[in-house]
Amino acid sequence: MIKALLFFLSLQLFAFAKPVVLVSILPQHTFVQKIAQDKVDIHLMVKPGSSPHSYEPKPSQMVALSKADLYFSIGVEFENVWLDRFKAQNPTLPFIDISEGIQKIAIGAHHHEEEHHAHHGHEEKQSLDPHTWTSPKNVKIMAQNIYNALAKLDPTNQTFYKKNLDLFLAEIKATDAQIRTLLQELPAQSTFLVFHPSWGYFAAEYDLNQVAVEVDGKSPKPKDIMRIIQEAKEENARVIFAQPEFSDKSAQIIAKESGIKVLKISPLNGQWSKNLITMAQALAK
Ligand SMILES: [Zn+2]
Repeated sequence: MIKALLFFLSLQLFAFAKPVVLVSILPQHTFVQKIAQDKVDIHLMVKPGSSPHSYEPKPSQMVALSKADLYFSIGVEFENVWLDRFKAQNPTLPFIDISEGIQKIAIGAHHHEEEHHAHHGHEEKQSLDPHTWTSPKNVKIMAQNIYNALAKLDPTNQTFYKKNLDLFLAEIKATDAQIRTLLQELPAQSTFLVFHPSWGYFAAEYDLNQVAVEVDGKSPKPKDIMRIIQEAKEENARVIFAQPEFSDKSAQIIAKESGIKVLKISPLNGQWSKNLITMAQALAK
């Protein structure tokens, strides 16, 4: 009798315990939630305001790892160091890279940047742009990868996940269409300035030219700033985008010297669709 009761209780516990899913950055949290909704517990590693380039997990997050059922990585920089440590912490935890299948491009693919890269003998891995989620085309691939992993982890809810995947794919398609409408008047290869080169996939997708102030992840030297000011004038740039995760000191100098505006926008914003549309609106102005 007691055995039967205990068995029943353990079944109940099992039924109520949601799978625990870990993600690296906030847009991933948004994507997983779109598909899983309330069926899984999602834990975020890089909290808003932190940079995924330099992030270091807290001890409490390392503990959370040992209770996780799935880790969705995305190829951001801190993962290069930490994923191996996460795997050591929880050897049976499956890791799914949601950027799998995405065609990666070089970071800050721009002639001046490349001179610098050659100079410092950059490694292959570091020169690929990790900010893949700024292009709707890439997020379609991510959505499919997330769905595949969730359906495998929790097959009972597969139909539910599939329905949500289809809704999310429709939202991605609508986002892309809205961006294209907003940008249709812009000439091809229009230049926009950014402090940190996080909009490379967005630029590639919509035929724009991203010019980054940051050089190899470091603040620019005075000669770099002079070069960007010159470029801003030549290319008729009207705005420079800064990111709340980084200092906007050099962006402010460039803006002042070239008579343009500084706009703050983060690719790590949780409202992924709205954020990309805001970027397009700023560019279209
Ligand atoms: Zn970045």
